Amino acid sequence: MIARISEIFESIQGEGILVGTLQLFIRFCGCNLNCNYCDTPKESDFCKDYVSGKVLKNPVESEYIQRLIDSSKTHSVSFTGGEPLLHADFIKSLKKSKPFYLETNMTLPESAKKLRFVDFVAGDLKVREAGIERYEEVLERTFRCFRILRNTKKRLTFCKIVLPSKFNEDEVYNSAIQIKNYVKCFVLQPVFGSDTENIFKLQRRMIEFSDTRVIPQVHKYLGVR
Ligand code: SF4
Repeated sequence: MIARISEIFESIQGEGILVGTLQLFIRFCGCNLNCNYCDTPKESDFCKDYVSGKVLKNPVESEYIQRLIDSSKTHSVSFTGGEPLLHADFIKSLKKSKPFYLETNMTLPESAKKLRFVDFVAGDLKVREAGIERYEEVLERTFRCFRILRNTKKRLTFCKIVLPSKFNEDEVYNSAIQIKNYVKCFVLQPVFGSDTENIFKLQRRMIEFSDTRVIPQVHKYLGVR
């Protein structure tokens, strides 16, 4: 199989509850959303493989990625983007020689069904302030994705909520209640550099029904990829 991949690198996981673990990152091209805080390039004709020091022309073959996964000494493989669920068939074709970690916007339920075998799911709950079109419909699909890729004994699923300085607290709270039974915990992640006062307020409300942590993007503070 083939897929368009923008970069491959090893680094620490900078977000969520596995923060600090060393991972192999496979960053796919393309995304079905257009969040206003997005800092990820979504298209590239070339795939920069920092692990092998090579630049490949897109698309990249799964055999190439498999070799990198098999030889990597990292804790796990992070499939990120862009949106990795757009490449669900490609991910499914890979042999899981180490744990698979999926970083997804949780808006493509039919693709999510193909990736029930992953070990970790860092799933987004997008807030209205992200500026996404047809927000209600996207939210509904997010609830479905969390049901499909819910936390189990075999799969650790948590929900990440990226928050700007100002957001509708009640709306986020009510959406979180819809998915609380499907996740191990919630991670409130401030948009880098934004004010955190409202986020700590929301945390105090959410810990009434679920483990809720405030974790910033640690890799940005360390100045690493
Ligand atoms: S889901 Fe992620 S990659 Fe897609 S637009 Fe939003 S922030 Fe960017």
